[in-house]
Amino acid sequence: MSETLEKFKQYLDKMKKYGHVNTLLYWDMKTGVPKLGQAGHVDALTYFSTESFAMATSSELSGMLKTLSQPEEFSGLSDTMQFIVTRMKRDMDKDSRIPKERYEAFVRAQAESENAWEEAKAAADFSIFAPHLEKMIALTEELAGYTDPGRDVYDVLIDKYEEGMDAKTVDRLFGELKEGLIPLVKKILAAGQPDDAKFQGSFDVDAQRKVQDMLLSYIGFFREAGAVGESEHPFTLNFSSRDVRVTNHYYEHAPLFAMFSAIHEGGHAIFEQNVNPEYDNTVAGSCRYMGIHESQSRFYENILGRNRNFWLPIYGKLQDLLPQFRDISLDEFYREINHVRNSFIRTDADEVTYCFHIILRYEMEKAIFLEHVPVEELPGLWNQKMQEYLGITPSDDAEGILQDMHWSGASFGYFPSYLLGSIYDGMFLEQLEAELGPVDELLASGRILEITKWLNEKIHRYGSTRKPKEVLAAVCGREVTAEPLLRYFTKKYTEIYHL
Ligand code: ZN
Repeated sequence: MSETLEKFKQYLDKMKKYGHVNTLLYWDMKTGVPKLGQAGHVDALTYFSTESFAMATSSELSGMLKTLSQPEEFSGLSDTMQFIVTRMKRDMDKDSRIPKERYEAFVRAQAESENAWEEAKAAADFSIFAPHLEKMIALTEELAGYTDPGRDVYDVLIDKYEEGMDAKTVDRLFGELKEGLIPLVKKILAAGQPDDAKFQGSFDVDAQRKVQDMLLSYIGFFREAGAVGESEHPFTLNFSSRDVRVTNHYYEHAPLFAMFSAIHEGGHAIFEQNVNPEYDNTVAGSCRYMGIHESQSRFYENILGRNRNFWLPIYGKLQDLLPQFRDISLDEFYREINHVRNSFIRTDADEVTYCFHIILRYEMEKAIFLEHVPVEELPGLWNQKMQEYLGITPSDDAEGILQDMHWSGASFGYFPSYLLGSIYDGMFLEQLEAELGPVDELLASGRILEITKWLNEKIHRYGSTRKPKEVLAAVCGREVTAEPLLRYFTKKYTEIYHL
């Protein structure tokens, strides 16, 4: 091994250890730190993340990456090491073009903007957030000009979360979906809706925790490489493929929330647990493509979890844990978990109307970055689109444009990945059925782990080493298309709602 490679590996190892501490501090902050301990905790977190940042941007690292990229050194590296060096060098080259003081200005403005958003949402007053949103937009455009000069800003933003994706492709996919979904949802909403009274009672929170444990084990979450916690909003966090943690939140009066959050986060976690351990703690591990990542959580949550047959082998167990469910038949349960209704809040939406929530946000982002619509006009535009897609108008901005935190932290371009995930799912579902047979049969006979194994082998093990396009090409052998997802929706909801 060359001297530089030896040094580089030691350097990565040091970065890994700092990364571990950062992840642990973050986990603790979200799940355990008492109120009075928070300031001290944030102090430690700031110190360690600044150290990590310094390591990731040091001239020492830059020098090593440069040396290792020379043909004579590079050709001697393993495939994994070649990926790591190429990726780290590319990211470093991009980031180093941002003047340090502009990056600091961005970080400061971002923290202020996040606080202002919280305040604005609580007061349902967009005007509190507006000047910060304006600043976030301007800084985002400025930074993209440094990292990717000459490229369309909105393409840069989409690419940041789903590498290789661009607005032109998203336009085509969302267009396909819109055309099919608008008439379908109209028909669904005109059909009879189920009665949800039986889901309104009080459901023991401790029993809900046991349901979550049962569900996680059932879908293939590996307990010896996983832990479970509680937080305000559910999330998944990983230290390495051997330590992946999920959280949940339990609502006494809404038992379905924790069940489907468990399956969703479980899907993210199963992905991370099954990445090739050789990639652990490097840029090759931990899938960094949000569309692909979301495709896995949503595959479990929607394609599998909202299938009647998913519950067939375990519905009795659910009834044992939550006795109120003894009065709810599997058919009634199935109807409720696929209850389609127009709603204001994205995170409460059913799997069909959810698509409109994302399409709306995508069109808003295009209005911001491509048409330069002034910030003060955005709430009106939001409400207009809400009326257009869902036929409802928010009573205030808290249940309208202020509901999601993404834009307050400048995560523009993130939203499309949620729906891209579902679009990929339609494709994965058709491919999986072509190879393993009908999902209905696999689920009905309790063979869900065969599905998990298929996903492990086809998608999870590659971590970040395959870009989204490469995943689709390798798994499905075709270009991305929304047609399979539309076919899935049409078939499923035609049956449920007798359309
Ligand atoms: Zn997710």
